[in-house]
Amino acid sequence: TITTKDLQHLFALIAEDIAKNRDHLCELDGVIGDGDHGLAMDAGCQAAAKAVGELDAAQTAPTPAFNVAAKAFLNAVGASSGPLYATAFMRAGAAARDKQALTDDDFLRAFAAMAQGIQERGKAELGEKTMVDAWRPAADAALDSWRSGSSMAECFDAALQAARDGCEATSGMTAGKGRASRLGHRAIGHIDPGAASAVIMIAAMAKFAQ
Ligand code: ADP
Ligand code: MG
Ligand code: MG
Repeated sequence: TITTKDLQHLFALIAEDIAKNRDHLCELDGVIGDGDHGLAMDAGCQAAAKAVGELDAAQTAPTPAFNVAAKAFLNAVGASSGPLYATAFMRAGAAARDKQALTDDDFLRAFAAMAQGIQERGKAELGEKTMVDAWRPAADAALDSWRSGSSMAECFDAALQAARDGCEATSGMTAGKGRASRLGHRAIGHIDPGAASAVIMIAAMAKFAQ
C-alpha cells in the first residue's frame, strides 16, 4: 500500500526530475510561449515536495497530503500550470477518499483523477497542443492496462509510453488553448512544453510505481 510517507518520497522524486529538466522546459516554452514553464514547474514541484515533506507522515492521511501539495503548488506558481496542477493534486486527494493507506487500485484512480482534473480545469480537448495531450492518453492507457489485469508497475509503463507518444504528437498540432494559440500555424513543428513536463512527472510516478 501507499502511505503519506511514500507520497513524501514521490513528491521528492518528481521535484528532483523536474529540477533536472528546468532549463530544457524553459527553452521549449521560449519557442511557443513566454519561456517560464521550467521555472514555474520547478517552483511548484519544489514547494509541493517541501510542504508534503514537512508533514508528520504518521499523523497525516494521503488525502490531506495531496491537498497540502495542491496549495503549495498553487501559491508558488504564477503561470497557467499553477491552477492546473493544483486541481490535479486536489483531485488525487479526493480519489484517495481519506483512507490511511492507498491500494494500487486507489493510486491508479488518483492518477486518472489528476488527468480528469487538468482537463476540467483548463477545458482543453485532446489535440489542442497542451499537457492534456500527454495526461489524457496516459490515464486512459493506465486504466485500460489495469482492467486487463496488469500490475501497477505495468500500468505506469503503459501510461508513460502513451504520454511520450502524446507529447511527440503535439509537435504536429496548432494550439487551441494557452499562449501558443496566438501563433496559429507557426506553433507547428514544436513540442508543447506542458506536455513535456507532464511526461517527466509521469515518468517519476512510473519510477515510484516499480
Ligand atoms: P504560462 O503560459 O501562463 O506561462 P506555463 O508556461 O507554466 O504557463 O504553462 C504552459 C503550458 O500550460 C502549455 O504548454 C500547456 O501545456 C499548458 N496549458 C495552457 N493552457 C492550458 C489549458 N487551458 N488546459 C491545459 N493545459 C494548458
Ligand atoms: Mg509559460
Ligand atoms: Mg508565464
